[in-house]
Amino acid sequence: MQLAPNVYLLDAATNANVFLIKDGDCKILIDTGLPGMAGAILRELDTLGAGRLTAILLTHHDMDHTGNAYEIQRASGAAAYIGADDLPYVLHDKERPGSQWAYHHMLRPRPPARLRRLEKYDLPGGVQAIPTPGHTPGHHAFLYRRVLFCGDMLKSSPAAKPLRMPESAHQWPQRLKGSLLALLPYPFRLLCPSHGAPLPNDEELRRFIRREAGESVTMSAG
Ligand SMILES: [Zn+2]
Repeated sequence: MQLAPNVYLLDAATNANVFLIKDGDCKILIDTGLPGMAGAILRELDTLGAGRLTAILLTHHDMDHTGNAYEIQRASGAAAYIGADDLPYVLHDKERPGSQWAYHHMLRPRPPARLRRLEKYDLPGGVQAIPTPGHTPGHHAFLYRRVLFCGDMLKSSPAAKPLRMPESAHQWPQRLKGSLLALLPYPFRLLCPSHGAPLPNDEELRRFIRREAGESVTMSAG
């Protein structure tokens, strides 16, 4: 499904969104979905003319985002990139704390062979990487033109209403609130969370984000 000029939401990935930016010869995948979906994702990429990728950007280390990175990286030839602080989790040098630990432990997706840390913040295709620690330590959002991909900083309902994730889902809930607030000055029109429908950057979204950040101030003051 096309969301904006050059921006697609893949139909093949369910539960966790996988996005494609296709800007001329530059083809960037954002996240790779739950394990077991690599074949369907690769077929859809072929259909969209993006069988050879330029880069795979991972918002964070959770396995519903990195689950098919090994297979997609191998088939597409592109290196995968993730925030430095999330790298040890993908390599299984660190265990994911919190409620998702059991799933990670059972499924343990294979790390991509070409996995690099995000070091530059100006990426191919004019994509900008924005460090947004909170959901995980090395979480990043990505801005392409007027579309902001925010990973698991928040989620949305099927009717495009912003929703909070349970606090236990986040490794650093207090840091998350500051990272959410830091998104507001970016010039985006559409916010694409990894779970749920894309959200317009309207007053409801901005109020939601400010309320989340405001709660952080109240909690830390108490
Ligand atoms: Zn997720």
